[in-house]
Amino acid sequence: MCIFCDIIAGTIPSRKVYEDDNVLAILDVNPLSKGHTLILPKKHTDSFLTADAETVQNLAACAHELAVKITERTGADGCNILTNCGEAAGQSVSHLHVHIIPRYNGDSAVSFEHAADSTDPDEVLKLLTK
Ligand code: AMP
Ligand code: ZN
Repeated sequence: MCIFCDIIAGTIPSRKVYEDDNVLAILDVNPLSKGHTLILPKKHTDSFLTADAETVQNLAACAHELAVKITERTGADGCNILTNCGEAAGQSVSHLHVHIIPRYNGDSAVSFEHAADSTDPDEVLKLLTK
């Protein structure tokens, strides 16, 4: 059984930020920053890659509304909106979820600093567009 399905069913407790027929938003139990929230579609699917179009649309609409509200209410300076797809990308719970991570000037909650990939960009473009 999936832990997020159990949270949606109410058999595991959570701190609810928002709920409608399609999604549940809860506080992350191990927050990267003040206000870190997870949005879960109620219909189980493993990740963004396996989601149907309707699930994606409902999730995107909720992510937009909540990102604005959470950023305002926390007084954050910005936010990261992200979903990890697969273990290689850091996904640890196999039930699609979107992270809303408020960001505060000077924090280090999420980092995209990295050494640049050295693959020839023209090869990459061919791969992605052929
Ligand atoms: P990911 O690594 O993208 O799969 O994110 C999973 C997130 O779920 C992590 O940030 C965890 O802290 C969070 N998490 C795991 N269990 C719970 C729980 N019972 N309630 C709230 N958040 C949880
Ligand atoms: Zn699930």
